[in-house]
Amino acid sequence: MSESKIIEELKASIRNIPDFPKPGIQFKDITTLLQNPVYLQTLINLLVKKYQNLGITKVCCIESRGFFIGSIVAYKLNAGIVPIRKPGKLPAETISKSFTLEYGEDSLEIHTDALTKDDVVLMHDDLLATGGTAEAAQNLALDFRIAELYMNFIIELDFLKGRDKLNKNYDIHTLIHF
Ligand code: AMP
Repeated sequence: MSESKIIEELKASIRNIPDFPKPGIQFKDITTLLQNPVYLQTLINLLVKKYQNLGITKVCCIESRGFFIGSIVAYKLNAGIVPIRKPGKLPAETISKSFTLEYGEDSLEIHTDALTKDDVVLMHDDLLATGGTAEAAQNLALDFRIAELYMNFIIELDFLKGRDKLNKNYDIHTLIHF
């Protein structure tokens, strides 16, 4: 099967939940992909193929749905896992970046000893929507003056143009577009 057909199959496995968690949001639920062993393996294999020869040393996984796939990909790439978490969850010293949500503000944190300037980092989240989350996560990683950064998402909601908020000097890759 061609890669585009495989990606179409994965796309069809994602469940859409209208008006969750609030009216007007079309929530893309990846649990229906994750619970299928064949789809899970297929997704991991596609990501490993894309990132395997780039010398990735750490995979930064954005809380919380970024943890599932980011962790497996890190293991497959022989890389470390770095959690990027909501405020107050990480126990040691952190740096923090705020970003705007549809209503109000939120922030993300990383441990101050999580990355070094030699790290080649793959940043992973399940979904890119307005881009605020990914922009904050990208800025957290770049504060460490890391050697290279790759941004990866399973899903991108193209109409929200979240990609425009991200630093264009770094590769941005999404498997499934809506
Ligand atoms: P944003 O900061 O607007 O790009 O939102 C991205 C973050 O919110 C990701 O961590 C997603 O898990 C979550 N998210 C935003 N919109 C959706 C959606 N329509 N379906 C599922 N998750 C979403």
